[in-house]
Amino acid sequence: MSEPRYTGRCNCGAVTVTITADAVATRQCWCRQCQKVAAGGPTNNAMFPTEAVTISGARGDHAYVAASGNVLTHEYCAACGTPVLGRTSARPQLRTIRLGLLDEGHGLSPAMAIWTDEAPAWAAIDPQLERWPGQPPAPTAKA
Ligand SMILES: [Zn+2]
Ligand SMILES: [Zn+2]
Repeated sequence: MSEPRYTGRCNCGAVTVTITADAVATRQCWCRQCQKVAAGGPTNNAMFPTEAVTISGARGDHAYVAASGNVLTHEYCAACGTPVLGRTSARPQLRTIRLGLLDEGHGLSPAMAIWTDEAPAWAAIDPQLERWPGQPPAPTAKA
């Protein structure tokens, strides 16, 4: 087991995460499902190799079939509701960790804004970010 690169916890502390790899990609997602997860804003995420992510604590989840036909699953703390991660049947080798779960000082920020066509009119999207109106190409996983 290598040294944790990142650690994190939910608001109540029931769910904890340790991650032993660098992020494969960082993204901000404005899709409608993420707006419901994130109280009306986007989710901010970092994708890691599944094998580098260890999570403990009880999670609830919600799975749905996306327009692509892939099954998307959102996981959250069963006790306090903090968003934990997303995963897709298309890329089981990756876990999409919500940045809010990670402990302060993680230094990660979104490099790309996706599904911007679904963002609300008031959304202020950083013009520096690479922008995709819908789903971007899959990241090239290093693992
Ligand atoms: Zn919790
Ligand atoms: Zn989304």
